[in-house]
Amino acid sequence: MTDSRDYDIVIIGGGPAGLAAGLYGARGRHKTLLIEKGVIGGQIALTEAVENYPGIQMINGFDLAQAMLAQSESYGMETEYTEVQKIEQQGLKWLVSTEAGDFTTRALIVTAGAEYNRLGVPGEDRLIGKGVSYCATCDAAFFKDQAAVVVGGGDSALEEGIFTTRYVSKATIVHRRDEFRASAILQERALADPKIEVAWNTVVTEVLGDDQVTGVRLKDVNTGEESTMDVTAVFIFIGSTPNTGFLGGLIPLDGGKHALVDEWMATPLPGLFAAGDVRQNSARQVASSVGDGVTAAIAADHYITANFHGDTAAAAAPAEATPAA
Ligand code: NAP
Repeated sequence: MTDSRDYDIVIIGGGPAGLAAGLYGARGRHKTLLIEKGVIGGQIALTEAVENYPGIQMINGFDLAQAMLAQSESYGMETEYTEVQKIEQQGLKWLVSTEAGDFTTRALIVTAGAEYNRLGVPGEDRLIGKGVSYCATCDAAFFKDQAAVVVGGGDSALEEGIFTTRYVSKATIVHRRDEFRASAILQERALADPKIEVAWNTVVTEVLGDDQVTGVRLKDVNTGEESTMDVTAVFIFIGSTPNTGFLGGLIPLDGGKHALVDEWMATPLPGLFAAGDVRQNSARQVASSVGDGVTAAIAADHYITANFHGDTAAAAAPAEATPAA
């Protein structure tokens, strides 16, 4: 009898890396499960316009993720919406414990993505959803014809800052240095936008307001001079931290908590792979995450072939459960 909860490949995280791994896993005729705790697509599900995925001029991020999901599922990938609590080695297999019960698998690919970093200043946590946001694409429309602050100097801050100008009357990008780290094309667009101003060498030290954001307290990092600015929205884009906490110290992480992997996305533990934003030195693009996921799935295929010699969940499954070609 086959165990319906036994898989060849389990993937943790349904962003571009996980969806691509699922496509290759399922097309490789492996019994493949993708586990997602929130929304399919991860960070791209919140992206209004993806303009740098080769071959596609522009696509809404949510739509791209749904297309990836449909494609992977068309080859037999299964999807479970639940949160992983723990993973552990069980003989030659991996045991994945989730809120929806346990799964076993021969290869495990962690593509759990990353969470937005917080500034850690007074008022920030209290006013989340009341003017403090980590997604302009999701929330800018609530601040039509109002003034906003956008914090950060990377691609996310500039891309999302430019997006806010569809709605807000003015967006001030507050950046702690005197130059952006964002790509040149986004810098050109942001600096040419008449609704965008930049507060260079400046940090937000407090988000002001009782029930709603009414302003921010700012500090010039060179002079120490403090000021306040009246705004109703504060969009924060200061990087992100990988979701590697549930790995519980099983595999080595770098200082930023990214998983250390080799060029095949393999961790030092047998059958355990990590791909996309969770791994060290990821380029953190949709296209590179897709490439990571594909690499991990091919490596998982080689690993299963070498170590299980045909004793796979797919081989044990009844004919009707075999993924479609
Ligand atoms: P990021 O590149 O790490 O930029 C984070 C920004 O926040 C930096 O400007 C940093 O300042 C600033 N920052 C960090 N901690 C801060 C703090 N405590 N207070 C104030 N400012 C702080 O993060 P990201 O913009 O989210 O981008 C992440 C990755 O995704 C990058 O590789 C990026 O290229 C990619 N991405 C690409 C696109 C695209 O191609 N369309 C869109 C979004 C993201 P410093 O510069 O001084 O360090």
